[in-house]
Amino acid sequence: MDADPVKMWGDEEYFGLGYEFDPVWFLSDEDRALEREIIAACHDVIRPLAIECDRSGAYPRASVDEMARLRLLAMIAPEQYGCRASSHTTVLMATEAIARYGCPSTAIIFMMHLVAVAGLAFRAHGNAEIESLLRRMDPEALIGTASYTDPETGGHFWYPKTSSAERVAEGWKVRKTGAFTTSSGYADWYLTQTTSPDFDGDYADLSVFLLYPDEVQGSPGRWDAMGMHANNSGPVEIDAVIPENRIVGWPGDGARSNDEAIDPLAFLMYAGAYNGIALACLDVARRHALRTTHAQYGRRIADYATSQDSYGRALCEAQASRLFAYGLARALDDATDGGDWTMYAQHPDAAPRAAFTSWGLEAKVLAAGLAARVSDSMLQLCGGRGYTRAAEIERLVRDAKAGWVMAPSNEVSQQIVGRWALFGADSVDWWNQKVDERALHNELGKMDDEQKRRLVTELGAELAQTGA
Ligand SMILES: Cc1cc2nc3c(=O)[nH]c(=O)nc-3n(C[C@H](O)[C@H](O)[C@H](O)COP(=O)(O)OP(=O)(O)OC[C@H]3O[C@@H](n4cnc5c(N)ncnc54)[C@H](O)[C@@H]3O)c2cc1C
Repeated sequence: MDADPVKMWGDEEYFGLGYEFDPVWFLSDEDRALEREIIAACHDVIRPLAIECDRSGAYPRASVDEMARLRLLAMIAPEQYGCRASSHTTVLMATEAIARYGCPSTAIIFMMHLVAVAGLAFRAHGNAEIESLLRRMDPEALIGTASYTDPETGGHFWYPKTSSAERVAEGWKVRKTGAFTTSSGYADWYLTQTTSPDFDGDYADLSVFLLYPDEVQGSPGRWDAMGMHANNSGPVEIDAVIPENRIVGWPGDGARSNDEAIDPLAFLMYAGAYNGIALACLDVARRHALRTTHAQYGRRIADYATSQDSYGRALCEAQASRLFAYGLARALDDATDGGDWTMYAQHPDAAPRAAFTSWGLEAKVLAAGLAARVSDSMLQLCGGRGYTRAAEIERLVRDAKAGWVMAPSNEVSQQIVGRWALFGADSVDWWNQKVDERALHNELGKMDDEQKRRLVTELGAELAQTGA
């Protein structure tokens, strides 16, 4: 199956699982060559920096520069901008490889960046500002980010309550408070979403804007979290007037952008990043379990049947999650002629990626759950020495935990998938607009006559106030 069966780590054979445990049949020869380049960059720069930045909290700028050198920053953008026009499969491979061999924080920096690139690529056609940014992204190593999460609505990032946009003579006045923004204060450009200019209370009416650092108040160096230390996911404040062509798409295009660009890439890359972290744990645990011997028995940790059982179970679970993600990537590629983003110029309403939303949520849930469980069981396998920093696994345990809480959290994702499966897509109610008649009548049934009368009076007063 594999023309190059030895996975290298610098000049030595890789200490973790070899290619025989990678689903290489999903990858083209070019993908495999790129993966080798990414592994080399991880060996030389990204992983050493992961260890250093975990301790210092510094932003891993040299790792960003490596991703630019490999032409990953604008990898999905069309060839007409000098970019790779990579498939979803290649994106998944690259994300998994950066998280696994390199640095989970850098994988999330890459994810939030590429998600924002997807938002740009979706509406690049005819917008000279966006087209120029895509052309310059890799040559100038311009890292971006998606500032979506709102402090008042938490992980429901598609619900930007503390935001607004209005049309002004110079272009747009954009106001936004972002609760968490990866690369906050370090990014060279920001994609953000607000309610639309003529917003009338319908939170599905969203718009997307491109901003530059002098228009955004970031918070460099303020990230203080359990893990993902190099991620610098700090708050962001925006109160700026920006030119006309910095709207991405048109007023009201935000929900479409979420469905067709932001979410498909986010879900796929969540899967890549957190599957990659689980694999990093398996790799590190393999190294530790093979190297560590108990003198009294002359046996290594890996020789115990319980270790083999725990390792095998974790690997089976990891492979299931990876195959799920690669299956999704393949389906997205089949639906988009290998990852094409030019179709929207002719067909702005085309939505081949959005058709896979429930699969994307499932991929995120599986990978984030996997990373949390496998990091825990591999730390256990490594024992007390695994608990120390030297073995590297404790860093991965801390980083792994972020997947579960990142938006939409696994609880929220599972609830959406479950509701969708039980009652159909319309029942998901992304913007809390549909009345739950059953719950309403159930609560009304608990009221006595006096409580009902009071409620009628309150509702009447409310209607009188709104003039209805
Ligand atoms: C490392 C990191 C990087 C990030 N980077 C970015 C970024 O670049 N851009 C960005 O926009 N955001 C980013 N975020 C934000 C992230 O995606 C989430 O939006 C954020 O973590 C949500 O945190 P919260 O405390 O507001 O959670 P909440 O939404 O308040 O959730 C708290 C708890 O309530 C549960 N919960 C919430 N709603 C429901 C419900 N309806 N039903 C059941 N349970 C529910 C959740 O599962 C969770 O357990 C980042 C977060 C992290 C940790």
